[in-house]
Amino acid sequence: MRTRPGICQRKKRFASEAEALAVAEKAPFHLRPYRCGLCGAFHLTSRTKGMKLPAFELARRRTKNG
Ligand SMILES: [Zn+2]
Repeated sequence: MRTRPGICQRKKRFASEAEALAVAEKAPFHLRPYRCGLCGAFHLTSRTKGMKLPAFELARRRTKNG
């Protein structure tokens, strides 16, 4: 994913995908971790279109659908 420098600086950084996922899991809205091409760390994005869903999100959807 392409990240603009301004967005990178504003966003919270996570050292690992697992760390970012832990935060995403607790968030009240859909968040998806991605590796930033600028700083090499992980950020969270609310844009999940076309992205692979994280495991916890898949589990959540499976539960909802019965
Ligand atoms: Zn960044």
